[in-house]
Amino acid sequence: YTEETTSIIRTTCPYCGVGCGVLASIDEVGAVSVAGDPDHPANFGKLCSKGSALAQTLGSERRLTEPYYQNKQAVMQEHRPTQLGTDFNAIDISDEPLIKPTDWNNVLDDIATRLNDTIAKHGRDSIMFYVSGQLLTEDYYVANKFIKGFIGNNNIDSNSRLCMSSAVAGHKRAFGADLVPGNYEDLESCDLLVLVGSNMAWCHPILFGRFLAAKKANPNKKLIVIDPRRTDSCEFADLHLPIAAGTDTHLYNGLLHYLSEHGCADTGYIEHGHGVDDALAAANVWSIEKVAQACQVSIDSILEFYQLVAAHDETVTAFSMGVNQSKSGTDKVNAIINTHLLTGRVGKPGASPFSLTGQPNAMGGREVGALANLLAAHLDLSNSIHRQLVADFWQAPQSIAPEVGIQACDAADAILDGRIKAIWIMATNPVVSLPEADKFRRALAACDLVIVSDCSVDSDTVKCADIVLPAQGWGEKSGTVTNSERRISRQRALKPALGLAKPDWWILSQVATRMGLAGFDYQHPSEIFNEHVALTAYKNDPSQVPSISNQPRYLNLAKDLSMPVLSRADYEVMTPFQWGGARITPTQVKLIAITPSDSASLPNFHHFHQHQRRQNSNKSDVKNRDKRHNTDFNPLTVNLRLITGRLRDQWHTMTRTGLAPQLNQHESVPTLTIHPNEAKQLGVEKGDYVQLHPRYEQILPNSEATTIDTNNVSKNADTDNENIEQTVLAQIAISDSMRVGDAFMPMHWSNA
Ligand code: SF4
Repeated sequence: YTEETTSIIRTTCPYCGVGCGVLASIDEVGAVSVAGDPDHPANFGKLCSKGSALAQTLGSERRLTEPYYQNKQAVMQEHRPTQLGTDFNAIDISDEPLIKPTDWNNVLDDIATRLNDTIAKHGRDSIMFYVSGQLLTEDYYVANKFIKGFIGNNNIDSNSRLCMSSAVAGHKRAFGADLVPGNYEDLESCDLLVLVGSNMAWCHPILFGRFLAAKKANPNKKLIVIDPRRTDSCEFADLHLPIAAGTDTHLYNGLLHYLSEHGCADTGYIEHGHGVDDALAAANVWSIEKVAQACQVSIDSILEFYQLVAAHDETVTAFSMGVNQSKSGTDKVNAIINTHLLTGRVGKPGASPFSLTGQPNAMGGREVGALANLLAAHLDLSNSIHRQLVADFWQAPQSIAPEVGIQACDAADAILDGRIKAIWIMATNPVVSLPEADKFRRALAACDLVIVSDCSVDSDTVKCADIVLPAQGWGEKSGTVTNSERRISRQRALKPALGLAKPDWWILSQVATRMGLAGFDYQHPSEIFNEHVALTAYKNDPSQVPSISNQPRYLNLAKDLSMPVLSRADYEVMTPFQWGGARITPTQVKLIAITPSDSASLPNFHHFHQHQRRQNSNKSDVKNRDKRHNTDFNPLTVNLRLITGRLRDQWHTMTRTGLAPQLNQHESVPTLTIHPNEAKQLGVEKGDYVQLHPRYEQILPNSEATTIDTNNVSKNADTDNENIEQTVLAQIAISDSMRVGDAFMPMHWSNA
């Protein structure tokens, strides 16, 4: 498969969920340069630093270009993190060469045979796919169809599990369906933008720029930022609420109570009986004083926030990873949406809750159902009629399993206890990015068959594979992506693929076909897109499928595209469009009662760290950093709650952005930013190196975080505990933008 290329090609940026349009120019010697696409409705010609540096990431350096077998145990030992506690010496390592190149024909046949053998020996449930918001919708669709329809289990989960499964669940509880009511124009036309758990200035910079331009034109527009850290987004804010991490539900329960008490409920929009009474009963205990105490901010600033929201009908609340990436993320999402439902500020111009997706195609994955608890085309996995509809459409050999499959954060346990015998990881680097990443690495070491499809040799997960498959990367692959405002855009190939790299949909289809499965004879991504479109409209007739008529078929792409089938030529020239129209007005709405027992009054996902400082005068000498018990280390400890996040110029585990010299200038080493008080307590200065010891087990209430007896913690610190394997080295940065008791570290660096 090749794609016709021209000298200027319209495509989309592969990084954040803004989904900016890119114009790529290719000169006569094949050199690529990029610019923003002035006609793309997400960015109107602008690109941020990451998008602008895309051409610098396209070289052949660090690319996977051929399939190969790998002596996993030996490679893992050779590349083991220098501070990893796992004793890989205990693993029996054969004399096999580290890497044995192969060809596609051989490896595809071999994978098909081994997957069939695994099913025969251990059952259908012994196979799992772990996929990614970096995949194109066509890749996602085939992966989901393959495992749910034909292997016969729902063990497919995406790294989107981490970034927005809370939003999906919150939307379903509030609207009866996973839909994003608003759009980017609402962020420009609103009078008040509230950012919750989002450093939009760095993480969705072009969209933030659109809001700032609107605010510049109309200075009456207000910006409120709710974030424990004073981020760059706060520079433009009228109010910053540095609430204690994990207290968002208290803040929003208090807001719901305040709005109700101050006559802001839109009784014409929301009637009693839609969860209003229960939600208000749960919220009514949250007086401003109580909220201020729980959130550890002043009563005045809470009151100012509530008054501003009450006064602005045209309010957009945009929330992101600070809300979603939490064990109580779904409650946080619903606590926010409750306030919009009560006031009728949903799906109206300038008034809506708005989930900012992190990845370029997290939304596409939702549309094709590539999470363990979803079905394709936004149908419902728990509904037997929906499952039958999808199975019929796919002509699957058996019905779709009703059970929710194994999810990302449970995958390591499922491998280690023997339920999963083969895992196929595509376009993601979970041994760095998953919680308890060390455990996942151990699980891959123990797994019978680990297949990794990626485009970069620098993925740490590639080092844990038995079989490595070279996938096409940005600039080579071709398909569609969906951004945060439900806009579907084409990503197009700019140049031929390097080496033997292939599209993910092709690799999956080849294996499925070689396993003897029918329905995977795709020759071009347009055929897959058409099948996806057709499924969204399949039996969309209330008289045939009554249960579906009970919910909006908001993802009826065939209707949105005004045609049942796109020709390949139509697909090639397809322009960006929003499914469901510009805005969606939910037809079923419900407020959710958020009680402390539901919402975890304790902060979750925060790990306490024991820091140790070298007393050695040579602060940059890190050669002994892997000797945990080295006497050079002072046993000074302090307990901090770690907050992670993105940097302005890096993306995920840096396998692509790390190639761009321009992007590495922003922050060149991993830093740990702490408050001056803690720096003083530890006796560290800016530029010192510290080791961080994660202490996953010790989850404490906010109030205890800064008062814990450090002697006791030292004594209890069990450095041999299997959960406390990997220490991390970071350079100290000191800033009063941090709350006392919090530390911030970027998510991007792996041990590399
Ligand atoms: Fe790419 Fe996001 Fe930057 Fe747009 S804002 S150029 S999509 S990283």
